[in-house]
Amino acid sequence: MRSGMLNGYLRGSGGRVRAALAVILTSLFALAAFAPALAEPSEDEDVRFIFAEDTAPGGAPFTFESVPLDHEVIDPPLYAATFRRERMIQPDGGKRVALTFDDGPSSYTAGILDTLERYGAKATFCVIGSRVSNYASAIERADSLGCEIIGHSWSHNDLTWLSVADAAEDIRRTARAIARVTGKTPLLFRPPYGSVSEGVRAAARQNGSSMIMWSVDTLDWSSRNADKVYNQIISGAKDGAIILCHDIYSSTAEAVRRAVPELIRRGFSLVTVSELLGFDREAPSPGKSYHNK
Ligand SMILES: [Zn+2]
Repeated sequence: MRSGMLNGYLRGSGGRVRAALAVILTSLFALAAFAPALAEPSEDEDVRFIFAEDTAPGGAPFTFESVPLDHEVIDPPLYAATFRRERMIQPDGGKRVALTFDDGPSSYTAGILDTLERYGAKATFCVIGSRVSNYASAIERADSLGCEIIGHSWSHNDLTWLSVADAAEDIRRTARAIARVTGKTPLLFRPPYGSVSEGVRAAARQNGSSMIMWSVDTLDWSSRNADKVYNQIISGAKDGAIILCHDIYSSTAEAVRRAVPELIRRGFSLVTVSELLGFDREAPSPGKSYHNK
C-alpha cells in the first residue's frame, strides 16, 4: 500500500475534513488488514490508491492496467476513490529486448516468473530436457505467462561431440519433453556452450530446427553477483538484443527482479525470441543461428 501517495494527497488538499477522512481511511485500512474478506489483494506493491489526478510516474513510459477487485474497500461517494489492483503493463512498440534463461528450470525459476508476471514481461527459457518433468509446473506457468520454452539439449552435452544422428536425437528428445508439458513442439534450441559445428547445423536441419544464440552475455554463471548481472543486463540492453542469463542462481533472480522494471522504465518491451526475431511473420530457417535482431 502506498500510504505516501495517500498522505501526499491529504496534505496537498489540507483542511479538517481531509484530516477526519484520513482517520476514517486509516481505520478502514486497519480493518482491511484483519478482515479476510477485505484483505485481498495482499501483494502491497501491486496496490495503489487511484485518485482522479493520479498519473503514471513522471516521465516514465509506464501505463497501468486495472484489475478490478470483487469489492471496493472505500465507497466512491465517500472519497471519490476506489481501491483497485493494478498491474504495470509494457509500452507498445519502441525498443525490444529478449531475456533468455539457460540451464533450468530450477528452484530459482519461480522467482524469475514472479518478476515477469508482475510487470507483464516475457522471456525465453532454454531448458535442459532431463529437468523438464521435475519442473513441469514452472514450465506450464512460464508458458501461461506467454514466455517461450525452447530446448538447450537433453543433458547439456556439447552437441559438436556427438554424431549428427545423436545430436539430432538429443534435440528431438528435448523438444518432445517440452511438448509433453506445453503442447507445443519448439522449433528453436540453444546449443550448450553456444557450440555449433557443421554437424550440429545438419542435425538442426534434420529436425527443422534453428539455433538461438545471444548478443549480450551477462556472465552471471561467473560473477554470481546480482549487482554485476544487473549492470550487464542494463548496459547491454539495446533494441533487438538477446540477453543470456541462467535461471539457476539466486543472484540472477535478484538481478532480474531489479532489471525488469528498469528496462521497462527505459522504454524497452521484454519479448520472447520468436517475437523479437519476427518468426510469426517469417519462419526461422532450419540450421541457421540467430544472434540478435
Ligand atoms: Zn547452458
